[in-house]
Amino acid sequence: MADMFDVVVIGGGPGGYSAAIRCAQKGARTAIVEKNIMGGTCLNVGCIPSKSLLASAHFLIQAKHAALMGLDLEGSFRPNWRKMVARKDAIVSGFTKGVTGLLQSNNVAIYNGTGVVTAPGKIRVSGAASAELEAKTIILATGSEPVNIGAFPFDYKTIISSTEALSLPSIPQSMVIIGGGVIGCEMACIYAAVGTKVTIIEALSQLLPNEDEWVAGLLEKEFKKLGITVQTSCKVTGVQTTGAGATVQLESGQSIACEKVLVAVGRRAKVDAETVKNLGLQMKGTAIAVNEKMQTSAAGVYAIGDAVATTYLAHGAFQEAQVAVANALGGDEKMTPQAYALIPRAVYSFPEVGSIGLTEKKARAMAIDCIVGKAPFRSNGRSVSHNETIGEIRVLRERASHKILGVNMVGASVTEMLAAARALIGSAESIDNVCFAHPTVSEVLKEAWEDAFGVSLHVPPTKK
Ligand code: FAD
Ligand code: NAD
Repeated sequence: MADMFDVVVIGGGPGGYSAAIRCAQKGARTAIVEKNIMGGTCLNVGCIPSKSLLASAHFLIQAKHAALMGLDLEGSFRPNWRKMVARKDAIVSGFTKGVTGLLQSNNVAIYNGTGVVTAPGKIRVSGAASAELEAKTIILATGSEPVNIGAFPFDYKTIISSTEALSLPSIPQSMVIIGGGVIGCEMACIYAAVGTKVTIIEALSQLLPNEDEWVAGLLEKEFKKLGITVQTSCKVTGVQTTGAGATVQLESGQSIACEKVLVAVGRRAKVDAETVKNLGLQMKGTAIAVNEKMQTSAAGVYAIGDAVATTYLAHGAFQEAQVAVANALGGDEKMTPQAYALIPRAVYSFPEVGSIGLTEKKARAMAIDCIVGKAPFRSNGRSVSHNETIGEIRVLRERASHKILGVNMVGASVTEMLAAARALIGSAESIDNVCFAHPTVSEVLKEAWEDAFGVSLHVPPTKK
């Protein structure tokens, strides 16, 4: 006899667990099926563990500036990698248990095992506990995996993915990171801070190719100060593992010897083949094809998060989950191109990168004439007090409509200003009436915003 539900969610990452909690809150009888530890990539081997290690690494860099801040640090201080990883593991464990508790307290039935849709409305769970489930609605939130490249496949010891990089047994002497995207930049900061000689190899002409050239240029300059070597417009042709590590071969003929090779060239949607076949799901490459309502080609089946390969971001998955749940329970919500365009991008490197809406690059490509308001961190009182003066914020205002179309930021804590930046998008007024607390780092955003209207108080006027 099958267990009956209104909604069954397959996958317990940010997409899946948030969908399940919302369904239950709206009164639907809900179950979630997770084959590993609740929390998915984000909580177990993604957002949270990487930010925990980044926080330790940042603390270490700050400590090195103690003398400049007027502090005498007695004795030596150095990273204790084992303790850094243990701290990270404890944080992860707290959150994964917390999510399980949240699901339980919202009366979501939890099935630990692999979920396969055997026929419309029917799910088989196999694993720790086997079960047959039936549901009016199924939400697929099965996530993604790191892209594995044939010329340098993972051996998970020397040629590793981000998952292994978050739990290496010791600090490697040297690491080549293939890919200067988000993972490449964040991991480079962690390892450079603890003393690894890091080299990033990026195929395209800049780090973070989706961001503006000035953003990547500033990042590269700061990475140099951390001892990170960046080679852009550079392709890896192969990697040979040796007893001591590996030799990375570049297209230029150059080769680099290192202890570890981290391959961070993107992620790929992952869905189990049997489910795809049994439902006759329409696919887009390895991802599940969905419409704006997050509906798949099968009636009553929705898909969200990395499995649909739209944003590959936890907050993208959260937003898609809200839309899928609303529609599954009789609503009419959409993830439009405009909604996707306003999903913030945050990179927790040293310094951080935060952007939302249009970049200057994209505005140029779309032939949108923009005035660019700029403000640096070096003239902000709080930033100078913190000794965190690197960076700049740029606000893009469309010349014709006066509307703010994008905010691009590099600097300490800029990711915390993304929500404020979001509030500016689409507005066409200067912000004389908004009172920013003083001194705060967020005043840099205010200055850049005002500069886009030619009325900045602390930035000298320039012709725009
Ligand atoms: P996942 O989190 O991947 O969850 C899918 C779940 O489904 C998994 O738990 C899996 O075990 C389960 N599953 C799969 N198939 C089945 C099945 N058949 N039966 C049962 N269970 C199944 N994003 C951000 O927004 N901010 C960040 O700072 C950030 N940092 C990251 C750092 C790293 C190193 C990595 C790798 C990723 C990072 N991401 C970040 C991306 C983020 O982790 C993902 O976008 C997010 O986890 C996607 O959520 P999801 O629910 O779609 O999938
Ligand atoms: P990515 O798409 O951000 O970057 C991959 C980089 O690898 C690109 O710059 C690409 O040009 C480069 N590349 C591809 N093939 C290459 C090759 N053969 N040689 C050299 N360079 C090559 O992907 P990622 O960094 O692996 O991250 C995967 C996903 O995880 C991202 O899309 C992101 O959404 C998510 N993530 C987000 C965060 C965050 O929000 N802070 C952090 C980590 C990961």
